[in-house]
Amino acid sequence: MNFNWHTRISLLIVTAFAVYFEYTAILVPIEIIAFWFMGYFNTVYASPDIDHKKSKPTQNLGAVGWVTSRTFKHRGLLHNPWFWTLFYAFIGYYIYNEYAYEAWYLTGGLIAIYTHLILDFISTKYKRTRTKIKRSLHF
Ligand SMILES: [Zn+2]
Repeated sequence: MNFNWHTRISLLIVTAFAVYFEYTAILVPIEIIAFWFMGYFNTVYASPDIDHKKSKPTQNLGAVGWVTSRTFKHRGLLHNPWFWTLFYAFIGYYIYNEYAYEAWYLTGGLIAIYTHLILDFISTKYKRTRTKIKRSLHF
């Protein structure tokens, strides 16, 4: 799936969650903004596709993107949901320990990443199924 569709769907889902949190008052407004910003950040900049040399997020990250795209194999560690879950759990734990503050807004980043991974999974399945059907039609 290309960057524009990843961005549209990811921001739609993160925004839907943000509206829900506003409506239910689960988070205070400043946290909702931070939540949405994390979703935006993990969609446009620190997306799992920073493991690909020519992806838009890699270009958006500049030098950091250059390093990550050459360090990680495409669709390897950075496309593993456990990596990101543990990464943000670690950051959340650190913030809680240092500032006694539960940084729930970090889940905005995780939602963007999970959306990306689900979309990659669906588009890969779709492409494989389409290829199988095309092959079977040749006989
Ligand atoms: Zn991807």
